[in-house]
Amino acid sequence: MILEAISKNFFLFLSNNKVLDRFAKRFGTSFGADKIVGGETFSQAIPIIKQLNHDGLQVTVDHLGEFVESKDEARNRAQECIDTIRSIADHQLNSEVSLKLTSLGLDISHDLVMENMKMILDAAEAAGITVTIDMEDSSRCGTTLDIFKSLKKDYSNLGTVIQSYLYRSEEDIDELSSYNPYLRLVKGAYKESGKVAFVDKEMVDSNLKRLIRKNLENGQYTAIASHDDAIIDYTKELEAELKMSKEQFEFQMLYGMRNETQKKLIQEGYTVRVYLPYGEDWYGYFMRRLAERPANIAFAIKGIFKK
Ligand SMILES: Cc1cc2nc3c(=O)[nH]c(=O)nc-3n(C[C@H](O)[C@H](O)[C@H](O)COP(=O)(O)OP(=O)(O)OC[C@H]3O[C@@H](n4cnc5c(N)ncnc54)[C@H](O)[C@@H]3O)c2cc1C
Repeated sequence: MILEAISKNFFLFLSNNKVLDRFAKRFGTSFGADKIVGGETFSQAIPIIKQLNHDGLQVTVDHLGEFVESKDEARNRAQECIDTIRSIADHQLNSEVSLKLTSLGLDISHDLVMENMKMILDAAEAAGITVTIDMEDSSRCGTTLDIFKSLKKDYSNLGTVIQSYLYRSEEDIDELSSYNPYLRLVKGAYKESGKVAFVDKEMVDSNLKRLIRKNLENGQYTAIASHDDAIIDYTKELEAELKMSKEQFEFQMLYGMRNETQKKLIQEGYTVRVYLPYGEDWYGYFMRRLAERPANIAFAIKGIFKK
C-alpha cells in the first residue's frame, strides 16, 4: 500500500516535469508509450483506428497536449483538432474527439477558448462527430462545466466528464441533467486534496457507482469509463435492475488497457469505445497511466530494452 502511494506520487511528479517532457519528445514514443499512445501524428493513428473499428470498437481520439503558453499556440491546437475531425470524416472512421480546454487557451483567456471551441464544434457538427471535453484538475472543474453549459445550448454534439473523486460531482450531475448531457463518468486522474476530493479509494469507487446509477436513472446516455471489473459488473447489474437497453450506455477504456475485457464486452453486445491519445506531447499522459497502475511499468521497461 505504502509502496503503491509512493509510486503513484512519484509518477504524478514526473508527469509535470518539463525537462523530462522535452527529453521524451526527442526520443518519440519508444519506452513502451507506443503500447498506449496512437503515435505522434494523426496519420500514424489512422491504421490503429481502422483496426479497432474492424474489431468492433468505437474510438475517441485525443490530441495530447495540455498547457499552451500563447494565443497562437492555442489557435494552432484548435486548427489541428479541426484537421483531425476532417480526417476522421474523410477516412470514414468510427471515431469521436476528446480534448482538453487548457490546450485551447483556458488559462489564457475565456474569449479565446470559446472562440476555439466554437470553430471546433462547427467542424464537428458538419462532420457528424461528437466532441467530449475531458475534465482536468479540480481548480478548472467549475469553469469547464460553465463552458460546457454555455456551448451545449447551441451544440448538441458535445459531452464532458464527471470525476467521482470530487465531492461536488453528485450535485453537478443533477445540475447538468436539464442540458441533456453526454457524460463520461470516471474516477479521476489528478492529485487532489482532501478539501475537494475523497482520498479513500473505496469512497471514490462507491461514489462512481452512485453517479452511474443517478445519471442512468435521470435517463441520460452514460459512458462508463473504467477498467475496474467491479464497476463493469455493477453497471451490468443496473442494466438488469433498471431494465435498460444496451443502447443507453457504453463502456470506455483507454487504448492498450484490458484488451481481452474489451473484446468480451463486444461479444456480449455492449458498445465499447477506446480512448486513443496521439501527439508529440505523450509524456505527461504516459506518466499518469504509470502512476495509476504500477503494472504498466512492466511494459514501459520492456519498451526501453526492445530493439
Ligand atoms: C476512456 C477514459 C477517459 C478518461 N477521461 C478522464 C478525464 O477526462 N479526466 C480524468 O480525470 N480522468 C479520466 N480518465 C481516467 C480515470 O479518471 C481513472 O484515473 C482511470 O480510468 C483509472 O481508474 P479505473 O476506474 O480504470 O481503475 P482503478 O481504480 O485504477 O483500478 C481498479 C481496478 O481495475 C483493474 N484495472 C485498472 N486498470 C487496469 C489495467 N490497465 N489493466 C488491468 N486491470 C486494470 C484492477 O483490477 C484495479 O485494481 C479516463 C479514463 C478512461 C478509461
